Amino acid sequence: MSTLKIAGLSKHFGSTKAVDEINLEIDSGEFVGVIGRSGAGKSTLLRLINRLIEPTAGSVSFDDVNITELRSKELRQWRRNCAMIFQQFNLVDRLDVITNVLVGRISEHGILSSTTMRFSDEERTMAVKALDRLDMIPFALQRAGTLSGGQQQRVAIARALVQNPRIMLADEPIASLDPGNATRVMDALRTINEEDKLTVLVNLHTLDTAREYCSRIIAMRQGQVMFDGPAQQLTDAVVREIYGADGLEEINEAVTSTSIQNRPQVAA
Ligand code: ADP
Repeated sequence: MSTLKIAGLSKHFGSTKAVDEINLEIDSGEFVGVIGRSGAGKSTLLRLINRLIEPTAGSVSFDDVNITELRSKELRQWRRNCAMIFQQFNLVDRLDVITNVLVGRISEHGILSSTTMRFSDEERTMAVKALDRLDMIPFALQRAGTLSGGQQQRVAIARALVQNPRIMLADEPIASLDPGNATRVMDALRTINEEDKLTVLVNLHTLDTAREYCSRIIAMRQGQVMFDGPAQQLTDAVVREIYGADGLEEINEAVTSTSIQNRPQVAA
C-alpha cells in the first residue's frame, strides 16, 4: 500500500512556525480533511507535500521515496503524481475548457510540444472522459473565464485527473463557492476517492464539511496537529478542548457563507 509519510516536518517563515514538527502517515485511498483557523498552517502543509515550497526541517516520503530530496525529472514526476487544486481554480480564462483540462497533460510533454500545445487523440479522449465525470461536457468549448466558480473548480478537478495522479491535494477548494456549487465539488472529490481509490487530502475551513465528507480529520493550530482521527471522534466537546471555549464558533466562522450544509450545530 502506498503511504505518504511526513516526519518531523517544519516550515518557518522568519519567527513564524507555519508548520511545526508534524508527523503523519496517510494510507492510499484515505479521504483526509485538514481543518483549522486561518493561519493554522494548512496551506503550508499541502505546499510542502507537493514541493511548491521547501521545508525548514523534516521530510515527506511516498512509497518509501524521500520526496524532499527529489530533483529535476523525479521532482516533475512527483508533481504529476500529486495533483493540486486551489481555491482560485487557476485556469487560463481565455482558453476553452477542454484546452484547460489538456494543460494537465503538458508536464508529460517535451518542451517543443508543450509550447505548441499539441495533444494526441488519446489525450483528448482522456480530457473528454474527465469532463464527462464532472458533468462538464456541455461546456467543453466554452472559454473558462465565462464559467461560474463551481464550474471552474470542476474543470480544475478534470485537469488534475488527466495527470493520472496518485494523490489529490485540494487547498480550500470550496472557500469561494456558494453552497450548491460547494456540494457539487465535494461530491466530485468523494466520487474520485471512492471510484479511483485516489488519496484525497483537502484543506477545509468548516468543520461541518469535514465531518460530512472525510473519513479522517486532522485539526491544526499554530502549525501543529491538535487532533488526528476518525471524523466521529472529533466531537464538539473535543473541538472546544482544542480551540478553547470560542473554538467551535471560530472554526465554523465561515459556516453561514460557505458551509454546504445548513445543519444545526450538534450540542456537545
Ligand atoms: P492556513 O492555510 O491554515 O490559513 P498558512 O499555511 O497559509 O495557513 O499560513 C500559516 C502561517 O504561515 C501564517 O502565519 C502565515 O502568515 C504564514 N505564512 C504562510 N506563507 C508565508 C510566506 N510565504 N511568507 C511569510 N509567512 C507566511
